[in-house]
Amino acid sequence: MNVAFKQPVHSTPTLDSIAEALLLPSGIDGVYARTAAFEQIVGGLTDLISEYRGPATEVLRFPPVMSRRQVEKSGYLKSFPHFLGCVSCLSGEEVEIRAAVDRHEAGEDWTPALAPADLVLSPAACYPVYPLAASRGQIPAGGLVFDVACDCFRREPSKMLDRLQSFRMREYVCIGTPAEVDVFRRRWMKTAEDFAGRLGLSWHIDYASDPFFGRGGKLMAVSQIEQALKFELLIPVHSADKPTACMSFNCHRDHFGTTWNIRTSDGEVAHTGCVAFGIDRLALALFATHGLELSRWPAAVRKSLAL
Ligand code: 5GP
Ligand code: ZN
Repeated sequence: MNVAFKQPVHSTPTLDSIAEALLLPSGIDGVYARTAAFEQIVGGLTDLISEYRGPATEVLRFPPVMSRRQVEKSGYLKSFPHFLGCVSCLSGEEVEIRAAVDRHEAGEDWTPALAPADLVLSPAACYPVYPLAASRGQIPAGGLVFDVACDCFRREPSKMLDRLQSFRMREYVCIGTPAEVDVFRRRWMKTAEDFAGRLGLSWHIDYASDPFFGRGGKLMAVSQIEQALKFELLIPVHSADKPTACMSFNCHRDHFGTTWNIRTSDGEVAHTGCVAFGIDRLALALFATHGLELSRWPAAVRKSLAL
């Protein structure tokens, strides 16, 4: 599973120079304006990921917000309450809304007038797909695969360019029997080697855990590793010592199947798994590896990204 890092061939630019050329500050840590060059690579990555899509895969593109009720029911609030961003709005009669605006105009705090809406900022691309699949009835024999994506939010302000509060995630999601999900995830861990190779990236796949909340979370993380429920594809963006997770390969077992009562064709609770591509991290890894001048990137990488 562990593959030794290859040394990058090019002298790598500093992340500061990448920031200056590619990601422009917004005044908020972890929120950037992306330049045309950065988006060109994002476009190339998006198309390359689509090349790996199987014929029966259903494509869905989700908005950056989703149902708060669905996120609560999915267990996200229990596991990651520290990451969740909720939409809140001014509501009520015109006079109440006007009073809040007037407080702002007077230099006072207007935000106590905000009330939580029925929306949260999507923390991952795959959450909305499980209730949607459940609403259609039993999963057909052979299982289902979805190709989903959305802008994700996680409240992790940081000055590190690979730790954004708002970032883009693409995922392939499998819903089916335990064996179908296992085959899907194994196949994807192999395919990811080809994908990273075509991008000329040094990589390494390792066991991983999610950053569950609190002291109890540490135990959950240990158990996740022991049960091999999460792997990550790591790329040396800053350094080989502290590589950055640019993809993850997740097995949820029956968590979403039980939560949403998703059943396979033989009536059993469905298992689910997903493979996630961190699009902004992959783009950053490409610039960190190959430099800022696209014309000087290796020919094979340029071809893979249709540059
Ligand atoms: P996971 O759900 O496994 O935590 O995240 C899936 C993928 O999203 C990660 O492998 C990573 O590539 C990307 N991702 C997670 N957190 C961040 C973040 O803070 N910033 C960026 N740019 N990408 C992230
Ligand atoms: Zn997922």
